[in-house]
Amino acid sequence: MANDKKISQAAEWLKHARHAIALTGAGVSTRSGIPDFRSPGSGLWKRADPMNVASMWGFIEYPQGFYDWVKPLAQTLLTAQPNPAHCALAELETLGCLRAIITQNIDDLHQRAGSKRVLQVHGHLRQATCIRCYHMVEAQPLFEKFLADSDLPTCEICGGVMKPNVVLFGEMLPVSVMYEATEESKRCDVMLIAGSSLEVAPAADLPLVAKKNGAKLIIVNNSSTVLDSQAALILREDVTSALPKVVAQMRK
Ligand SMILES: [Zn+2]
Repeated sequence: MANDKKISQAAEWLKHARHAIALTGAGVSTRSGIPDFRSPGSGLWKRADPMNVASMWGFIEYPQGFYDWVKPLAQTLLTAQPNPAHCALAELETLGCLRAIITQNIDDLHQRAGSKRVLQVHGHLRQATCIRCYHMVEAQPLFEKFLADSDLPTCEICGGVMKPNVVLFGEMLPVSVMYEATEESKRCDVMLIAGSSLEVAPAADLPLVAKKNGAKLIIVNNSSTVLDSQAALILREDVTSALPKVVAQMRK
């Protein structure tokens, strides 16, 4: 099928869906300058062993290692702007054609683009929690102070180390968010999957949950994914060009 036919087909399915949702991965934020945290090819791990700096046990053992590693990224994450892929998904929600976004991304670019219902299965950077007493605070002031003085962020109550509310290796996914993401996946009749190679759970599992319950899978990614054989439609194109085209088609 020609690419423009596929765009029309995707637009058609989304328009007539009873309950469409999106599942997004690192590829959606790449054009906003955010590297893929979990991908070994992203270059992030050349500077450090992920199991030391970005695992829960590594964090407890030596939190400074995590903060030193994350410092060059923190500024990028705090200032990154949504790109046309984020904006297209937000517009789909505004048009009433998308009920929720399940994302692996810890940045807030979906929300900054205007999306309302965003389920962040790998956590986010808006808050941080003390690893000793579980006191939770807004993370932005902590990060700004850390970027200025490089001192380990500590708890105002007990002096314990503060950990951003992102899911590190070896840590459980947030239970309530995963529950909602699974329910959305069971309920949807169209799942628009964008910018994920679908290699890592839960991104690898949720589309199968959706499909088992009768949903059509639309995959938008510039390279092949693990679940291509399960898809009803594949758009082999960058998400920042493909998704705006789908939205433009729906407006016709
Ligand atoms: Zn504390």
